[in-house]
Amino acid sequence: MSLPTSARIDIERFWTTIERSAEIGTGRPGGLSRLALSDADKQMRDVFVGWCKEAGLAVRVDAIGNIFARRSGLDDSLPPVVMGSHLDTQFNGGRFDGIAGVLGGLEVIRTLDALGHRTRRPLELVNWTNEEGGRFSPPMVGSGCFAGVYTLDWARSRSDDDGKSMGEELERIGYAGEAQAAPPPLDAYFEFHIEQGPILDREGVQVGVVTGGYASTGMIVEFRGETAHTGPWPMEKRRNALAAGARLLTAVDDLGWQFAGSGGKATAARLVAWPNKAGIISDWAQATCDVRHADPEAAAVMAERMLRAAHEAAARANCSAEILDAWRWGGKVFDEAMVGLVRETAAGLGYSTRDILSQAGHDAYFLARHTPSAMIFAPCKGGITHNNNELCTREDLEPGLNVLLRAVLTRADR
Ligand SMILES: [Zn+2]
Repeated sequence: MSLPTSARIDIERFWTTIERSAEIGTGRPGGLSRLALSDADKQMRDVFVGWCKEAGLAVRVDAIGNIFARRSGLDDSLPPVVMGSHLDTQFNGGRFDGIAGVLGGLEVIRTLDALGHRTRRPLELVNWTNEEGGRFSPPMVGSGCFAGVYTLDWARSRSDDDGKSMGEELERIGYAGEAQAAPPPLDAYFEFHIEQGPILDREGVQVGVVTGGYASTGMIVEFRGETAHTGPWPMEKRRNALAAGARLLTAVDDLGWQFAGSGGKATAARLVAWPNKAGIISDWAQATCDVRHADPEAAAVMAERMLRAAHEAAARANCSAEILDAWRWGGKVFDEAMVGLVRETAAGLGYSTRDILSQAGHDAYFLARHTPSAMIFAPCKGGITHNNNELCTREDLEPGLNVLLRAVLTRADR
């Protein structure tokens, strides 16, 4: 039994969920500051779980707090078709990043309920834990854990700036569920997300068909030196870890400018030091940075220069450098048939489309290591994101959500 081709999501019903979400964990005017595993994250999770239960979905939580909501199919022995994204935000986040994907998946399920349509394969809707990496580094910990990229123990031991671990915080908010032995087989994974860049908005294109991601490399480097008096201590004896970190970060920023002509990006993201006070030289610093480029070869050159810059910065400041953590994602990760399905579905619905590379990290990158995956991008005004002025209208989101509905149905009813 197939759904009539005229079936569409209900944008007003979807919008009420966006508006309710926008009340939880408010930050600067118009924005959200809903950090992973905070009280606000717990409140949003509770509201989301309530909506899922109202829709008759079976909810389970895994050991890293990922929430799975399942709608049974005509044949529940088949692996599910999965939709997901994240409900956590950055410190100065918007109302749509990640949220539109999770609540968009809920809207797909509500649309099927309203039409009385049961798919052949079961459907699952997922909220991944700590996608942003704003409170706990690195990003995409929940999906990485699910896909076997990170171990549960390692993920649970990630700690925030106050020394609270993900494990403790999961237990505190009541979202530490059952450990999984191995990731269960999935039929497919779809993630609807705002572009977080200016291309679709500038070109007036309704749907972005995501073919892959910028090849990205990030790292956290720890520098160690020695404390000393800032006055009498001779320059040639100084081992200023803060200066080493600062040198690395300005070198990384320079790298971004060197590659800017071909669209490369480099970010000096974070520098912390101890004691980081006047009158004393800091003996410890931690610097976080990343580089990314559409061309994997250029990305590899940038990554190599970033690494070299860490060692040069340490040598110049007479400090030691240790790479504490490094991550890499992007490239042509998505399944060609799935990408093709998104492209054909959008064209069939009469929407304007273009192929596009994601410049941000996404849970779909890790899911793609486990199951055929695809992403659907919607425009956002001016590409503004990770900012309280992030803005999408109903008209920006509706086409991509209808593509999500039809593509999920095609996959789940085959
Ligand atoms: Zn996101």
